[in-house]
Amino acid sequence: EQRTPVLELAGVRAGYGAIQALHGVDLVVHPGSVVALLGPNGGGKSTTMKVCTGLLPLNGGELRLAGRRVNGLSAQEIAKLGVCAIPEGRGVFPNLTVRENLWIATGTGTDLKKLEAVAYDRFPILGKRRNQLAGSMSGGEQQMLALSRALATDPAVLLLDELSMGLAPMIVTQMYETVAELVAGGLSVLVAEQFARVVLPIADTAALMLHGRIVDTGTPDEIEGRLSSEYLGG
Ligand code: ATP
Repeated sequence: EQRTPVLELAGVRAGYGAIQALHGVDLVVHPGSVVALLGPNGGGKSTTMKVCTGLLPLNGGELRLAGRRVNGLSAQEIAKLGVCAIPEGRGVFPNLTVRENLWIATGTGTDLKKLEAVAYDRFPILGKRRNQLAGSMSGGEQQMLALSRALATDPAVLLLDELSMGLAPMIVTQMYETVAELVAGGLSVLVAEQFARVVLPIADTAALMLHGRIVDTGTPDEIEGRLSSEYLGG
């Protein structure tokens, strides 16, 4: 017996004006699992993420959250239903300190002290840098901050787009180890990565996307065996 997926795309079509970018995308994220969305630049990974956050409307198919059809809901409404994205480029405020960035994430009801304690316990370096401007930190530290901010919202599903971009391989490994720990604690994650090798170790399912279509889906082992080296990355 399967529990209801936290996130589901069924035959999703979407695009930009006359440009159709997604041609019927099917994807399922089960609770407490990691789905890796792989494929080259321009394949449609970011567009898929935008559809999941409500930033881009569907023009076909269905988007479902916890079994509920949410086509047409605003990005704000979808965020309220627990979809939280760390966009490409991380989305931290460079001219605010680490604390201020966390404070912004608290919204109403969450207490900053508690939030800081959780963030600094997970990433001690953020504690050391609490009064430093986020923009002055390394890419890896900013990614830790972005992840801490996202987790503050206690998301039903976390969307990560090219988490590895611009980061040293060791930092990427560390970030994905953290994600794996969070998943072991029940978090559900959809992660888009151009290079499979960094994310396959923590994925439950992998899907290869080309020209706006999922062309292959399987376990990480199956997909790794079928991927050409250009999609695996160094
Ligand atoms: P990347 O790694 O570059 O983010 P991707 O797999 O995420 O690649 P998308 O960014 O989703 O790919 O792009 C899918 C298609 O949609 C591409 O053909 C791209 O040119 C097109 N596209 C993306 N954004 C826009 C936009 N704002 N306006 C018009 N076309 C766009």
